[in-house]
Amino acid sequence: MPDIHIIGAGLAGLACAVALAKRGRKSVLHEAARQAGGRCRSFHDETLDRVIDNGNHLILSGNRSMLAYLAECGAEGELWGPDEAIIPFLDPRTGERWAIRPNEGRLPWWLVSPSRRAPDGGLRDYLGDLLRLRRAGADDTVAGLLGASPLYPRFWRPLAVSILNTPGGEASAALLWRTLEESLALGGAACRPLFPRRNLGQTFVEPALAALQGLGAELRYHDRLRAIERDGNRAKSLDFGDGERRLGADDTIVLALPPDAAARLLPDLPALSAPFDHNPILNAHFRLDRVVELPGSLPFLGVTGGDLVEWIFVRGELLSVTLSAAGGRSGDPAEAIATAVWREVQSAFGLAATPLPPCRIVTERRATIAQTPAQAARRPAATAAGGNVLLAGDWTATGLPCTIEGAIRSGHRAAELAISGAGAA
Ligand SMILES: Cc1cc2nc3c(=O)[nH]c(=O)nc-3n(C[C@H](O)[C@H](O)[C@H](O)COP(=O)(O)OP(=O)(O)OC[C@H]3O[C@@H](n4cnc5c(N)ncnc54)[C@H](O)[C@@H]3O)c2cc1C
Repeated sequence: MPDIHIIGAGLAGLACAVALAKRGRKSVLHEAARQAGGRCRSFHDETLDRVIDNGNHLILSGNRSMLAYLAECGAEGELWGPDEAIIPFLDPRTGERWAIRPNEGRLPWWLVSPSRRAPDGGLRDYLGDLLRLRRAGADDTVAGLLGASPLYPRFWRPLAVSILNTPGGEASAALLWRTLEESLALGGAACRPLFPRRNLGQTFVEPALAALQGLGAELRYHDRLRAIERDGNRAKSLDFGDGERRLGADDTIVLALPPDAAARLLPDLPALSAPFDHNPILNAHFRLDRVVELPGSLPFLGVTGGDLVEWIFVRGELLSVTLSAAGGRSGDPAEAIATAVWREVQSAFGLAATPLPPCRIVTERRATIAQTPAQAARRPAATAAGGNVLLAGDWTATGLPCTIEGAIRSGHRAAELAISGAGAA
């Protein structure tokens, strides 16, 4: 049986490998780093002496490809969440707290209940805005479409920046709608927030590695693909820096890489030739001297109207703060970021001034592509490279924003194409 070489063991590559192995197909997974998981990983941090995630990840019960992936890995039990759809918010400027609480079914009666929605605007605003978003054109930005809505500052703006990691003034409205179509538009059943029981690695990576090992798939770490030799658009051999590895006549390659790495390996591919714009995400992880509880005993809280803090997640005595689209801050010294974020956390909760707890700042400079209309138009299809090379990764044309769900869906799509022979053309 021909080999399928998957390059990159992020979630796209892992999902592709698991799907292939479950269908009895042989694959080899090549990962440049010494661990799998890519932009969704956990590691032991010496400053905090704890296992931390590279960044807080928010996922929802409507993320069907993600749930299918966990089921294939036998890891459904690695997620937990509240019984109802609830996303809590705090505005530290006014002290107001509220929660978005869509009702279970598709008929959105939660919009008529002020206790289930953001404090501003009313039913007509929600319905009008949703209709506008649904009709968004490829060039529309979220602020361009909804900036004048009373819901924009405390509903659409935070939603856009956290889902798209792109400021509302630049973020693609059509992409935001694609997420809502698979969550809010389906009702609360698709909007329950879900959290890893322990950490991202234990939920999304370790079970996949165990499944792959059990099914006999091969995974090679420290195996960075440096070049692809092609004959026309057909890949003939792969160069991992230790001599040429020739491919069999029917072998397929799945490049499950970030966009810049894929473009380096396929310089002739016009759709990929220019570098993509990226936006960073910054996470400040604090280790407190006691177990932390947030209001409502939920493990997360959205913060609007602050200068820095957008999301707070807690796990045990770890309190982690997320700053999305953090371009303006990502170059600041870690100590300055930690101090400023901690000050804002203290003031948000009215805490007495305490010394800065142990903190680790993790800056992912290329957390996602900038999800603007212009960049969205450049996302290539899985088959764009032609020949026996398939593309996967959150940035390919999944129709979804760059998320866990999009990455896993792209991996599943690449596996389907490889099985159907599309990548052997
Ligand atoms: C801080 C942060 C917060 C996020 N928050 C959320 C969230 O709340 N919700 C959500 O759904 N998503 C979130 N995301 C996005 C999500 O993590 C990504 O969409 C997803 O992990 C991307 O997976 P991927 O497999 O497409 O790419 P990657 O994870 O980038 O995987 C690519 C892999 O390829 C490897 N590689 C690179 N070059 C080579 C080479 N030449 N040869 C071999 N291997 C190579 C890399 O080491 C990496 O392991 C967040 C991302 C970040 C960084």
